[in-house]
Amino acid sequence: MVMDFILQKSELRNLAEKVEAGQRLNTEDALQLYRTPDLNAVGRLATMVSEQKVGNQASYIVNRYINYSNYCILSCQFCSFSRKKRNDDGFELSVEEIVTKAKESLKLGITELHIVGGLHPTLPISYYTDMLKALKAVDSELKLKCFTAVEIYHLARISKKTMPEILAILKEAGLDSLTGGGAEIFEKSVRKAIAKGKETGQEYLDAHRAWHQLGGRSTCTMLFGHVETLEDRINHLSQLRDLQDETSGFTGFIPLPYQPENNSIPVTHPPTGNDILRTIAVSRIFLDNFDHLTAYWVGLGMKLAQVALSYGADDLHGTIVEEHIFNMAGADSSKGSTEASLKKAIIEAGRIPVQRNTFYEPVRERTGKSPEAPNDSFSESVLKNNLASA
Ligand code: SF4
Repeated sequence: MVMDFILQKSELRNLAEKVEAGQRLNTEDALQLYRTPDLNAVGRLATMVSEQKVGNQASYIVNRYINYSNYCILSCQFCSFSRKKRNDDGFELSVEEIVTKAKESLKLGITELHIVGGLHPTLPISYYTDMLKALKAVDSELKLKCFTAVEIYHLARISKKTMPEILAILKEAGLDSLTGGGAEIFEKSVRKAIAKGKETGQEYLDAHRAWHQLGGRSTCTMLFGHVETLEDRINHLSQLRDLQDETSGFTGFIPLPYQPENNSIPVTHPPTGNDILRTIAVSRIFLDNFDHLTAYWVGLGMKLAQVALSYGADDLHGTIVEEHIFNMAGADSSKGSTEASLKKAIIEAGRIPVQRNTFYEPVRERTGKSPEAPNDSFSESVLKNNLASA
């Protein structure tokens, strides 16, 4: 890694030298990265780190989101997605409906289904295991990335199992990866203000640790830009870095900018473009034991996500097809993208696009039965149908 001219001249020279020497940054260093006025210098340092890990490549995944239900027994203050049974816009899908969506999406060439929902008041554990088994029966190579940590605790509760036991049961039924959602900010006072009743930060980490100990891998997140301080963010990153030291089970980190609409948190200054890019860059530099950092285009908007590829991100996430959670919270990005759009965004950013799988590995040719080849005009038409029916 060779420090460039911008960094040699910047006030970040001391930190750049540390990074160049392979030394880990501490929390004071992270605060300096947040407070230095020169955003471009922070971005340069993040790019230096990213290039060392992945060269000039940036990845994307061809995937689909499915929310099995938005009914939830909790009422997290920041959540615009959940509904009670009395609400007339609540929904729940049968296993058959989920399988139909999966079959439709296989024609797009998806390699992953990303499935989450609220904490449903009455669905039994067999619903979840039947869903996983039915999807694996459709295509055994399709990766199932499902459930947030709080859903895992909910499923453990309703089935009277321990959290590690329920993870083992779900793995046996076909679960390939946990999702990273629900981390929010680990600090207790912040959690109380935005997600009262949810699992603690420690419980989130425990669930991911237990999953990693079973041989599983997962992503992790941070919801930022609401009522937390910079110190809370850095403390959050620090705890993720510690767990990664212990298990090496995280495949990537996904910072999520808070979306301010349709919820009850009084946030007068939701994250700006500057804050989002800086948080991505600081995370990339600080999380030295993470291989990948995703710019989640649904939360950032595709244009800012594309710029984030020059601020430490090396992944644009996926085609998604049908996003509800961020859109119900006011994100003005579309509900899905095509593979062609993701590739175009990456190429325009000066990077080499690489299709990845759930574990951020390059997609290789599938064995066994092959799905119909992905076709961009077909992708566009499915996307339009979804947008029309959403
Ligand atoms: S964030 Fe999750 S757990 Fe909280 S209310 Fe929304 S769906 Fe329920």
